[in-house]
Amino acid sequence: MRPVVVAANWKMHTTPADAAELAATIAGRTRVDGPVERVICPPFVCLAAVRDALAGTGVAVGAQNVHHELTGAYTGETSVPMLVGLASWVILGHSERRRDAGETDALVGRKLRRAVEGGLRPIVCVGEQLTEREAGRADAVVGGQIRGILEAFGDGTPADLAADLTSSGTVIAYEPVWAIGTGRNATGADASAMADTIRRAMADGGLGSRAEAIPVLYGGSVTAANIGEFLAEPAIDGALVGGASLKPDEMAGIVARAGLTAEARAGERE
Ligand code: PEP
Repeated sequence: MRPVVVAANWKMHTTPADAAELAATIAGRTRVDGPVERVICPPFVCLAAVRDALAGTGVAVGAQNVHHELTGAYTGETSVPMLVGLASWVILGHSERRRDAGETDALVGRKLRRAVEGGLRPIVCVGEQLTEREAGRADAVVGGQIRGILEAFGDGTPADLAADLTSSGTVIAYEPVWAIGTGRNATGADASAMADTIRRAMADGGLGSRAEAIPVLYGGSVTAANIGEFLAEPAIDGALVGGASLKPDEMAGIVARAGLTAEARAGERE
């Protein structure tokens, strides 16, 4: 059974002075009965403060990026070993990093390898541009991103690939670029269709039937008001939330809805 996950991407917001209080408030406001995995990904400099604030709350801490090498002359970068004790999750290949830092699928695949080897749970982001969707190429683009990432990730057998990605708890976030931070979201049906595309590409890329075990989140202007549309889709397992994740009321609403979904899905399998 796939977990239901709500991950908060705080991007370049908060400081070490205010992140702890916000994290503690969100943790308190998002306690729910259903088995929802909650993750907060603050800026690197806030990781220690947020880790301390979240101790004992059940909310995990994630980084927003990591370098593909373990150590070396990479000024300003952060490696997997540096995150030990600070974060248990990591966002990889966010479209803002693809846009601003030129990250490619091949680089994201190498980062994924490092994260999995280092015991971090990756949230790997994929998604098409508006022009690509309008040209009817969304499936091809996102399928191609998954293929490129898997090619760079794996030099083992398909069985190794499947075992690595499932045992590491790797999660994929489908984030159409035109929906991020724009207030414009995809429909639940579109997100569901893209989750199918992602799992098909993963199956073809070596995971076979184990692609069904990979959680797919939707991200792109998720709010408490629209999360229900995405979680109503059985193919969607939660959300990666940007702007709304800085607002405790929004997070309370999003996680409350996710809790209902998680309980209902657990009940269906009993
Ligand atoms: C994100 O940063 O991954 C994101 C989806 O942002 P927003 O929710 O603000 O669109």
